[in-house]
Amino acid sequence: MLALSPLTTLAVERLQFKPGFNLFSTQQDVQVGKENSTQIDRQLPLVNDPDVLQYVNTLGKKLVTYAPNNHSEYAWQFKVVNSADINAFALPGGYIYVNRGAIDAAENEAQLAGVMSHESGHVVMRHGTHMATQALPLELIMGVMGEGQTLAGQLARAGIGFGVNSIMLHNSRSAEAQADEVGTYILYQAGYDPHAMVQFFQIIEKKYPQRTLQFFSDHPNPENRIKDVDAEITKLGPSRETNTDNTDFERIKRHLATLPPPPQQKGTPKIDSTQKPPPPPSANLTRYDGKVFTLDYPENWQVERGEGSVALFPPGGMVSGSEGETAQAYGTAVSLYSPQQQNWGLVDGTQELIASMRQSNPQLQVVQQTGMNLRGNPAVSVLLQNDSPIVGQRETDHLVAVRQGDSILTFIFIAPAGAFESYAPTFDRMLQSIQLAR
Ligand SMILES: [Zn+2]
Repeated sequence: MLALSPLTTLAVERLQFKPGFNLFSTQQDVQVGKENSTQIDRQLPLVNDPDVLQYVNTLGKKLVTYAPNNHSEYAWQFKVVNSADINAFALPGGYIYVNRGAIDAAENEAQLAGVMSHESGHVVMRHGTHMATQALPLELIMGVMGEGQTLAGQLARAGIGFGVNSIMLHNSRSAEAQADEVGTYILYQAGYDPHAMVQFFQIIEKKYPQRTLQFFSDHPNPENRIKDVDAEITKLGPSRETNTDNTDFERIKRHLATLPPPPQQKGTPKIDSTQKPPPPPSANLTRYDGKVFTLDYPENWQVERGEGSVALFPPGGMVSGSEGETAQAYGTAVSLYSPQQQNWGLVDGTQELIASMRQSNPQLQVVQQTGMNLRGNPAVSVLLQNDSPIVGQRETDHLVAVRQGDSILTFIFIAPAGAFESYAPTFDRMLQSIQLAR
C-alpha cells in the first residue's frame, strides 16, 4: 500500500461544487438514507463476506475523505449487492451500494474507486433530496419541518421514495455531470488516475451491454462526458497519480470468485424484438361481461381471466415465461386493487397502487396524472412509461382508476411506445364503452 497525504492544491479554490436548492438538512439526508437502506437491505441480496466488506469500506472511507462539501456529516456505509449486473447506487446521507458485478468488471482498483467516487459525488451534492425537494407537495414541506412519523414514511406517502425501485434514484443528466466532476476530483486527490471513472463507464457499456441496463438508467450518460472530464483534469493541476497498487483489489476479486454465485433473478419474460407485431385491432368490437364492469374490445383479441383480473390482448400480445409468469406487451389489463392504507382517497390509493406495481416493474415512471370522469364516476387517469417485455423497447401505459366498493378498479391500456398512437383510437373506444356495476 502507498501512503497518501491529503494534499490540497490550488485546484480546491478553483473548483466549486455547489449543491442545488434543498429543503432538507444534511442530518435529514442521513436519516432518510438510513431508513431506506434498512428497507433495501431486506429487499436486495447482499454479500456478507467480511473480507469483501472490509475492503470496500476501507477503500470507500479513504476516498470520501477527499470529497468536497462537509463529507464528515454523512454516514458513509458501503455495501455489496450480490448481483452479477453491473450497477451501483447511492442513497442520501452516504449509503452506497456497489454490485458484485461492478467489482468483477473493474480492471483495476482505480476504476472501482472511480465508480465509488462518482456515487459519493451524488451524496455530497445531495442529488436525492434536491430532487425530492422539487417533488415535495406543500403540505409535506410543512410536515417535514414539523414532527410526525419517520421521514422516509412521510415522503413515501407523498410518492417520494428512495427504495430499490424508486424513480428518485434516477438522476438527471446534469446531476450525472456533477457526480462525474466530484468523482474525478476525488480520484485525483486520492492519487488515482482521474480518467479511471469514465474509462470504467465506457468499458462496461461496450463490453457488457446486457448487464448495464439498470446502471445507465440510474445514471443517464451526460452529453460530452469525456470532454467535460478531460477539461476538468487539466484544471486539477499537475499529474499526481501515485496509486497503482492493485494487490488488495486483485485479492478481493479472486476471493469473490470463490463465493457462491449470485442468486438468479426471476425477471419478466421477454419477447424478441425481431418477432412480428400483432395484427391491428379489429374495428368490430365485442362485449366483455364481467361481474363488476362491462366493456367492448376488438373481436380479434383474446380474453384471459385471472384471480381478480382480466387481460384482453391481440394474438402475440402476451408472453409467458418458463415458470408460468406472464407479461403483457399489447392490450388491456383490468384488475382490482385494495389499498393497504386506511381511509384512502382515490388519488393516494392510486399512488399506492403504482408504488406496488413498481415492485415488479422497476422502470415504471409516471409521466402525467390527471383527474377525469368515467361515465359519471370520478376517476384518475395516469400516463406511465415502462420497459416493454419486447427487448430493448419502452412502452406507454394509460391507467384509469375508479373506486369500486372498498377497492380500486383499474384499466391499463398497454402498447410499445412506438405503437401506442396507432392503438389509441381503439383504447378510446374501449374506455368509452366501460360500464360499471352499481
Ligand atoms: Zn450517477
